[in-house]
Amino acid sequence: MTKTCYIGAHVSAGGGVEHAPLNAAAIGANAFGLFTKNQKQWNAKPLTEKNIENFKANCEKHGFGPAQILPHDSYLINLGHPEEDKLEKSRNAFLDEMRRCEQLGIAMLNFHPGSHLRTISEEECLERAATSINIALEKTGGVTAVIENTAGQGSNIGYRFEHLAQIIAMVEDKERVGVCIDTCHGWAAGYDFASEQGYRQVWDDFDNVVGFRYLKGIHLNDAKKERGSKVDRHASIGEGYLGLQTFSRLMKDHRLSGIPIILETPDPEKYAEEIAWLRQECSQ
Ligand SMILES: [Zn+2]
Ligand SMILES: [Zn+2]
Repeated sequence: MTKTCYIGAHVSAGGGVEHAPLNAAAIGANAFGLFTKNQKQWNAKPLTEKNIENFKANCEKHGFGPAQILPHDSYLINLGHPEEDKLEKSRNAFLDEMRRCEQLGIAMLNFHPGSHLRTISEEECLERAATSINIALEKTGGVTAVIENTAGQGSNIGYRFEHLAQIIAMVEDKERVGVCIDTCHGWAAGYDFASEQGYRQVWDDFDNVVGFRYLKGIHLNDAKKERGSKVDRHASIGEGYLGLQTFSRLMKDHRLSGIPIILETPDPEKYAEEIAWLRQECSQ
């Protein structure tokens, strides 16, 4: 069985989205993550024809197809917000991000499911997130909503595979919903990716609860804090609790074939080296 290794990193889109594929190619990536707008601001200028044209041309030139691009939405967005006006604001911003993906020919948008801010129950927050996704999917076409598992920091939902499954169950269009598993977040939430037996169990659990057919992306990060800490602190590959062995195991796992594997490790200077090592592990 041949394995497809799509490995890259979250790269800068500074100066315009069209720079992202160039930045990715420069570090030897054949997959990348990006923000399609400034992630710290609510409002962004619409993409221009030039942005769109150049983004598509640069992707084509460097061989980035739709399965190799996994953008991340703004951190300001909370799709499970307990307050109506703020929920509305998040939903509008999310819709705008989905539309930007549509314009750029990007097939997926990754996001954190939301936070209950200790005002509503997790259950209610999960329902709100699912409704937010339904609204966005109804108003767009061709872009899959990709829910990321979280570390469970603060009042974030999405730290159990069950949360992801509950949201999916409430999403109407199952063809356009999926999940992205962040290894650091999973570890911080208590999932033991690091031991051989734990690794097997975590993915069995994932398959039983969510199902591999929903896996659309991996955020590949080592973890600075111990398992179950619920603290979201990424480490460079091999420099945290997960260790090189875990990443070698991940790279050899055929179930990740064709899935974009995106680094969000803290030192972009190391991206090229990390990607080269991962690619070598993957090809073995
Ligand atoms: Zn992530
Ligand atoms: Zn994180």
